[in-house]
Amino acid sequence: MPPEDLAQQSIITLKGIGPSLAAKFAKLGVSSLQDLLFHLPLRYQDRTRITPIGALFPGQEAVIEGEVLTADVAFGRRRSLVCRLQDASGIITLRFYHFSAAQKQNFITGTRLRCFGESRRGASGLEMYHPEYRPVDHTGDEALDDRLTAVYPSTEGLSQLSWRKFIAQLFVQLPDSNASGIKEWLPAQCLAEQLKVSLMDALRYLHHPPPNARLDQLSEGKHPYQRRLAFEELLAHHLSLLQLRESVRSLQAPVLSPDPAANKQLLTALGFSLTRAQQRVWAEIATDLQKNNPMLRLLQGDVGSGKTAVAALAALQAISNGFQVAIMAPTEILAEQHLQAFQEWFEPLNISVDWLTGRIKGKKRQAVLEKLLSGQTRLLIGTHALFQDDIHYHQLALVIIDEQHRFGVHQRLALREKGVSQSSSTHQQGEQVPHQLIMTATPIPRTLAMSAYADLDISVIDELPPGRTPVNTVLIENSRRSQVVERVRNACQQGCQAYWVCTLIEESEVLQCQAAEACEQELSAALPELNIGLVHGRMKGAEKAEVMAAFHRAELDLLIATTVIEVGVNVPNASLMIIENPERLGLAQLHQLRGRVGRGSRASYCVLLYSSPLSMQGKERLSVMRETNDGFVIAEKDLQLRGPGEVLGSRQTGLIQFKIADLQRDADLLGAVHQAAETLFSQYPSHIEPLIQRWIPAREIYGNA
Ligand code: ADP
Ligand code: MG
Repeated sequence: MPPEDLAQQSIITLKGIGPSLAAKFAKLGVSSLQDLLFHLPLRYQDRTRITPIGALFPGQEAVIEGEVLTADVAFGRRRSLVCRLQDASGIITLRFYHFSAAQKQNFITGTRLRCFGESRRGASGLEMYHPEYRPVDHTGDEALDDRLTAVYPSTEGLSQLSWRKFIAQLFVQLPDSNASGIKEWLPAQCLAEQLKVSLMDALRYLHHPPPNARLDQLSEGKHPYQRRLAFEELLAHHLSLLQLRESVRSLQAPVLSPDPAANKQLLTALGFSLTRAQQRVWAEIATDLQKNNPMLRLLQGDVGSGKTAVAALAALQAISNGFQVAIMAPTEILAEQHLQAFQEWFEPLNISVDWLTGRIKGKKRQAVLEKLLSGQTRLLIGTHALFQDDIHYHQLALVIIDEQHRFGVHQRLALREKGVSQSSSTHQQGEQVPHQLIMTATPIPRTLAMSAYADLDISVIDELPPGRTPVNTVLIENSRRSQVVERVRNACQQGCQAYWVCTLIEESEVLQCQAAEACEQELSAALPELNIGLVHGRMKGAEKAEVMAAFHRAELDLLIATTVIEVGVNVPNASLMIIENPERLGLAQLHQLRGRVGRGSRASYCVLLYSSPLSMQGKERLSVMRETNDGFVIAEKDLQLRGPGEVLGSRQTGLIQFKIADLQRDADLLGAVHQAAETLFSQYPSHIEPLIQRWIPAREIYGNA
């Protein structure tokens, strides 16, 4: 077959794959022969050798061979078929919880069996649960595999055997020579010396590693062939983000010129002067807004660094030019807080501010929509409700998204569709789209940011407003809980306010809320003289807002909360925070939480109330919190200790799913990846599309602009 066509040929051309099987493969993004070739193993099994039973260690997957001693049904807590197997070096138990009467016939004493499975420590020493097994003859020369066995990511109805079979079939059909395998889109000049291996060699090796392959290296993803492919995959993702950026930049956006008089008024209303860092990023944004292509800018700044004021200046620049602005926050609490701040700043300037959340319904919602469409509302603040299908702006010129880490690339893109003149989702020539400012308090280390957000320009506020005292962080073991409760009592009696944050590992919101409720009961009993409030994720928006408002007005001394207060909440009089089970949270999240205190002039404290015993890593992580208040240092550490998925919050957003690359493990490749991307753009633009298609299934390609 002509090798260049692998990307065009359907897997149906393989023997044994018909439409129904093809549909199953398609679920995993595999429809062409090339897709199949790039469906890379998750891990490997070694079925190339027999391991003596006596040499097995728990957790090891291995082939063993021995003779059946006994086979009986054991009646423990659960009935199981138990077979004792012996070789010259030892004895192991094979255990089957699901078995048929007939199966017992396979285990007649003296039968020689070859098994593959994972050994583990069981009730009777080493055991294998549900191993694969088959009888073999006594000559002992039955063939073993001559390659390591790949284990593929799969889905219901697609067995490992089918993956192995079809991939093997494909390799048999492929010509052996490198030149005619699969197209190399990477010019040699883009690859560092140690990465100069042919794509075909790498694929062949990784699907069928030889018995002498280093399993340890392979399972860590550090084999040179894996690095070769990871490089290409990182490049494909980077290119796709850059392409997205290009396509957005090529659209039109309203030119927004600054209005010095209005700016001056707003700066006066703010009541403080901007820090140098705020001035710098504000200048970057103001420049972007004056261009006739849409701004796509990520504004990073630690909690409390004053992003809101910068957002207000940006909003004003759009509004003074007669346009509308939308500000989106991830929670109602935050949206409401922005509403208060912006009303205070903008209403004296005769700018009408409105808000919309999922909670506003019926006639009220209708009224909001009408004022928005007529253009009377200049600034709309809210949650993602701002971008539902039936919401139409009069002339939207700027979208501001607060706390970006909760929004993924796809959500960013959806916003663009609310164009200035939003007639359709495909942008016509001359049609305008809004500028976008995305704000995050999660500091992202630079290399990572350049890869994960290659479609954005980045501004950083790297300075806190003056007069902040760093939060003193202490680690206290839960056995000294009563002392901590006393501390809360004293602080509140002296006029401070305090947060008590309950955390649970469980993703379940129900359990989290129950824990918070139990905590409230405990603390109300212990601290009867304090006014105590509770917020958690299962309360109605209005209830939550009411409690937050009461805390804000200092009617509550102590606020018990789940991590819903994580981002952005601003109560300067709160100067003490207790975080329960901090060992269960990521550092970035702890830092966010801690940022709720230390916003006023008073010395602030954060008590990390941990449960013993802490792992080594747990200790190390919590001491980072004690040692520094710098969000970037914390982010770097978090990246080191937990990996980029956690730092970027990809679990929530489905940020980037790689087949083989790993942003953290392969971070050393990123510099070269960025360079290669430039080379391709300038010298080999025609290679870009096929590279992206090879690595990113069509439905995932960011944006189809
Ligand atoms: P974040 O970046 O976390 O969103 P905010 O914008 O909420 O931070 O600002 C935190 C607090 O700092 C607010 O009370 C805000 O009014 C105040 N603030 C912002 N900029 C300055 C400044 N330049 N000088 C003094 N206070 C400031
Ligand atoms: Mg904020």
